[in-house]
Amino acid sequence: MTDALAAMRRMESLIAGLPGVVYRFVMGRKGKVEYVSRQIADLCGVGPEHFMDQGSEKLALLIHPDNRMQVLRSVSRAARSRRPFALEHRIRCHNGAQKWVWHRGAVVRPDPGGPLHLEGFALDITERKRQERELAWLAQHDVLTGTANRGRFMEEVSACMQRAERHGEMLACLFLDIDRFKRINDTFGHAFGDELLRCIARRIRRCVRGNDVIGRLGGDEFVVLLDGITAPQDAAVAAQKILIELAAPFTIQGRRIEAGASIGISCYPGDAGDAASLLRNADAAMYSVKRTGRRAFRFYSEEMSGRAFETLALLGGLRDAIGSDAMNLCYQPRLDLRTGRVVAMEALARWHSEQYGNVPPARFIPLLEDAGMTEAFTSRVLNDACRQLSRWDAEGMPAARMAINLSARQFRNDTLPEQVEALLAEHRIVPERIEFEISELAVMEDHPAATESMHRLHRLGVRLAIDDFGSGSSSLHLLKQLPLEYLKVDRRFIAGVPSDDDDIALTEAIIAMGKRLGLRVVAEGIETEAQGVFVRANECDEGQGFLFSRPMPAEDAGEWLRRRLH
Ligand code: C2E
Ligand code: MG
Ligand code: MG
Repeated sequence: MTDALAAMRRMESLIAGLPGVVYRFVMGRKGKVEYVSRQIADLCGVGPEHFMDQGSEKLALLIHPDNRMQVLRSVSRAARSRRPFALEHRIRCHNGAQKWVWHRGAVVRPDPGGPLHLEGFALDITERKRQERELAWLAQHDVLTGTANRGRFMEEVSACMQRAERHGEMLACLFLDIDRFKRINDTFGHAFGDELLRCIARRIRRCVRGNDVIGRLGGDEFVVLLDGITAPQDAAVAAQKILIELAAPFTIQGRRIEAGASIGISCYPGDAGDAASLLRNADAAMYSVKRTGRRAFRFYSEEMSGRAFETLALLGGLRDAIGSDAMNLCYQPRLDLRTGRVVAMEALARWHSEQYGNVPPARFIPLLEDAGMTEAFTSRVLNDACRQLSRWDAEGMPAARMAINLSARQFRNDTLPEQVEALLAEHRIVPERIEFEISELAVMEDHPAATESMHRLHRLGVRLAIDDFGSGSSSLHLLKQLPLEYLKVDRRFIAGVPSDDDDIALTEAIIAMGKRLGLRVVAEGIETEAQGVFVRANECDEGQGFLFSRPMPAEDAGEWLRRRLH
């Protein structure tokens, strides 16, 4: 050992008793580590040998990735300026744990032309950081329930409002007051009341999405911020869920107790332009619930209340309908325009509600999706459609293929391909006989999960069509990358044919483009002979519409097929 190294070792043993770690790396020829002080093991759990003969990348790995750039910048600045650096950052220990350190260091070259020394002092401040985090948390939360306190909640509302304004989104504030809370608290004591509040906070959490903010304003007043909702009805659905959840009895200290809540809702941008008014209006709406009875919700604006109640009533019926005869599928044939042969039957969902009459799919599908009933609906439609196809086969009236509509939400379901595969096996249907129609808007969302589903379904062998083409704004590039076989021209274009010049030009262009992309083009909504003549003249491959047949209940559709065959 050289004298210089021996001196370093003596120095190290002298400072070994200090809090913190003094370290030194000596970078020799070609930037490789030649010497490492032993204390480094105290800090990150590795011995000096871990670094010997390694490049500086090995040292950089010690630093937490989130802080790495910042530290490397400080070190290189210190090397240039020959002045020490000081900063706080995290390191990654050998056992995977993280530590916060206060780190002061310098880069020096004691002998001109000699090796570079990186040396410094690091103090473990993990505990202090934890305490800081805890204090920050305490300053922003309600300790009893762990929900946001008033200050934090208002900050979140303001931040979300700004974001909502930029993206043209909507948000809603729910103001909840627990019915009879004061009486419960007075009768059973504060410990009991506290426990009830904790249970309530937990139940509210179960009803909202992970990024929705829950706050307690004190006493028994809770607030919920629903971020990025698409319609006020979404807030009504959440409020209803919370009411149901809170209406169930609580068991606290072995005692069963009923609480329940009243909820007021205000929406941005409709009801308020700033955080304070949003909260005030939700509060006012909550008071009006209290005045007229409890265990209900109300919107600040009357008009929204009316619409929300209708939505909820519809939802109630819808839940039952999915499992009953009130919902079924109608079938509309699709023909080859050259030969006139039936190439597919499209399954179209129908709901007849006792209370509301025939509710169109465009109304009830978004509703059931928002209420989390998508999967039940998908299973119902897939099952019915597959069963019908094999029934027609068995009756000697093969309907060529079955076309099934899938919304964006239905499509994003990871397990859809497995579900389809199982159904095909159960009903002994070859995959080519099933076609899924996805609307252009859904395709263009370019949701990775949807694209993935599309490829998996394609690999299964089922056919894919893009529906209502022309209603969105397609990226042709994306269109080319997807495993599509059919393009269905939106019926709004066909409606203007052959009188509207724009529709004529657009329909011609879409048909031509679809064919250039190698897709079979289908015109939907053909109602008149003139429209039929027009699309045939433009060499559109297939057609569908009232001219050939309206959508029919299964039995009539079977009859229709039979007549065409004989
Ligand atoms: P779509 O897939 O484009 O279905 C064609 C719609 O056009 C159907 O309306 C059909 O009844 C209607 N139609 C057919 N021929 C003509 C015609 O000549 N003239 C006119 N004016 N209309 C015609 P429907 O059944 O109300 O369905 C509307 C949309 O609802 C469908 O559009 C589809 O996107 C969606 N949908 C229907 N059933 C389902 C389903 O089971 N699942 C999903 N995800 N969506 C469905
Ligand atoms: Mg369709
Ligand atoms: Mg369509």
